[in-house]
Amino acid sequence: MSDLKSRIARLIAAEGPISIAQYMTLALHDSAGGYYATRDPFGAHGDFITAPEVSQMFGELIGLWMVQCWRDSGSPSPARLVELGPGRGTLMADALRAARAVPEFLDAIEIVLVEASPFLRDVQREKLPATIRWTDRFDLSLTDRPLFLFANEFFDALPIRQYVKTQRGWCERMVTEKNGELAFALAPVASLGLDVDKAEVGAVYETSPASIALVEEISRTIAAQGGAALIVDYGHDGGFGDTLQAVAQHKYASILDAPGEADLSAHVDFAALAAGAKRSAATAFGPVGQGVFLKALGLDARARQLIRNNPHETKSIEAAVDRLTVQMGTLFKALAIVPDGAAKPVGF
Ligand code: SAH
Repeated sequence: MSDLKSRIARLIAAEGPISIAQYMTLALHDSAGGYYATRDPFGAHGDFITAPEVSQMFGELIGLWMVQCWRDSGSPSPARLVELGPGRGTLMADALRAARAVPEFLDAIEIVLVEASPFLRDVQREKLPATIRWTDRFDLSLTDRPLFLFANEFFDALPIRQYVKTQRGWCERMVTEKNGELAFALAPVASLGLDVDKAEVGAVYETSPASIALVEEISRTIAAQGGAALIVDYGHDGGFGDTLQAVAQHKYASILDAPGEADLSAHVDFAALAAGAKRSAATAFGPVGQGVFLKALGLDARARQLIRNNPHETKSIEAAVDRLTVQMGTLFKALAIVPDGAAKPVGF
């Protein structure tokens, strides 16, 4: 048994069952055995491939989208460009390359990467300009300027809690241990609130308190200072269902068997994020499907241009367009957050 798994089992034996949120945090971020803390999970030889790793076009279009939002908000200077969970740094590198066409933008922004993993910070450092600053969470140092923020496949990694409607009412799904093995268990809880309480027996309700708190902080900053946020992820627009998943080597894996060895994530509840933005005096647009969004930003024209310059790569560029807009086109969605009263951003 891995060291992390036996440590989690001992923690539960000593203190009682832990929430799925606490389990996700340990499995993903434990400094000695956590999934993100110890490896580079991306690419064909890793566990999964994300949109910026599929094609440079993804980051380029998002970079230009950000520049447009910056212009639409009056080209503020100084401003700040922030990415949450930059992975290998590919999206930010592609976005900055596209933004070179607008040097005033690059002159105006401080660039900050929010990254918990010391391992991935080193990977990012190799690819990005030396002037970039890192933080391990969205903290107060990011709230005092107009904020232009993007996050791809970040919110799915934030911890969720799961509730199951049973004959005896709502229970929280917890992680417990038996003889050193980890297992799910249900613990009764009080009511979850009017809308949700009507659910039928068997329904699973997920919340991500960490995601809500974060989207509210981002939205408050955008409402007070100006700016825009773009959140892209796989997810849904509210409702019920068990979406917690473990992925290793491009296949679904067990959630509890080997903490730290597989990626753990859940589908993002975009309706909950949009509601958080609204509570914070900001306006959310979307979610719209990633396919529709990228096409509105000019993906096809960019692909044709790349093909003209690299005709021998026609097949792989066409395959990337298909992957981004068809295979990932509807499950993946984009949500924009802007100050109340600001114009609707392109793509929404
Ligand atoms: N955006 C990248 C990587 C997505 S994977 C891409 O599209 O390829 C998730 C990223 O978020 C990783 O870089 C991971 O280390 C980081 N991360 C996950 N949870 C985090 C947290 N709570 N705080 C800061 N970074 C986190």
